[in-house]
Amino acid sequence: MAKKVLVLGETREGSLRNVSFEAIAAAKKISGGGEVVGVLLGDSVADFGAELIAYGADRVITVEHPHLKSYTSDGYGQAFMAVVEQESPEGLVFGHTAVGKDLAPKIASKLQAGLISDVTDIEGEGADAVFIRPIFSGKAFEKVKLKEGIDFITVRANNIAPLEKQERSGDVSSLSVDITNLRTIIKNVVRKSAEGVDLSEAKVIVAGGRGVKSADGFEQLHELANLLGGAVGASRGACDADYCDYSLQIGQTGKVVTPDLYIAAGISGAIQHMAGMSNSKVIVAINKDPEANIFKVADYGIVGDLFEVIPMLTEEFKKV
Ligand code: FAD
Repeated sequence: MAKKVLVLGETREGSLRNVSFEAIAAAKKISGGGEVVGVLLGDSVADFGAELIAYGADRVITVEHPHLKSYTSDGYGQAFMAVVEQESPEGLVFGHTAVGKDLAPKIASKLQAGLISDVTDIEGEGADAVFIRPIFSGKAFEKVKLKEGIDFITVRANNIAPLEKQERSGDVSSLSVDITNLRTIIKNVVRKSAEGVDLSEAKVIVAGGRGVKSADGFEQLHELANLLGGAVGASRGACDADYCDYSLQIGQTGKVVTPDLYIAAGISGAIQHMAGMSNSKVIVAINKDPEANIFKVADYGIVGDLFEVIPMLTEEFKKV
């Protein structure tokens, strides 16, 4: 049976997040030839509708309201539920982002629906779709299927390939929703790390640990990351030592990332760190201790001093 699937399109700093396009590709599979409807919530988001359609949404619904300028679970919850009531979908797909992780359980509980979170792949289509997600901090994968009700999933960034961007036609309509009784109203957002590539969606991450030894030491990681069009990440050891901000922390209590390339410099490979990066496609570890745990998950290991290796890599990449 073909299904109607709603996809939450997420914007960040004036553009759509890539995970929204990946969510559309996931929704296409769940729909099994049915309809994929993009949903945009914000104070001024209608202009993003055409881009969601270019990535495969059949049509887009926008809900615009001054109280939706910044995410709040109350505001987005009310707006999204209004779209659900209008559309009666058989599937819902959100990115497994900070917003998706917060909003999806709220919507699932309102709909009394099951929720499969952090999906990294989908086998089959339509009613036969089976969802694959990591468990035990990425050590194993399970295949899950909901027995009944709405197929509601969140998708991990950088795992499900988006459809090719093409000129496609589709309707962008707006739904007027009265956002009331908010417990939180966000007046202003101050970001600590507003610049550069978004760590959770970066294709290349250069991460540093306690072995980087200082905030100045992180400068060379930034240089290499910039050269590769990537982002800088860190172990908790490095954050605790105040070499960098906690917003860069990767791991069990930090961000979970799946870049194409993860360069770990001066990181020992504690299980809590690996929980956040071990599913990266290619892992390069640089550590002066040949017994370091990080080498167990590395595709390429460089035993050496990062203060020699990182500048050498930077110089070589400059030649490419
Ligand atoms: P270290 O373990 O001190 O390793 C430093 C490494 O640098 C060593 O392997 C050393 O050989 C190498 N080194 C030193 N100098 C050089 C050099 N010049 N060149 C090359 N290599 C060098 N950690 C996380 O990262 N993320 C989390 O989300 C997280 N969550 C946690 C949650 C809980 C509940 C707990 C208890 C811990 C958590 N931790 C987390 C902490 C984790 O257990 C480790 O303490 C931490 O990851 C260690 O960071 P590190 O690898 O940078 O430091």
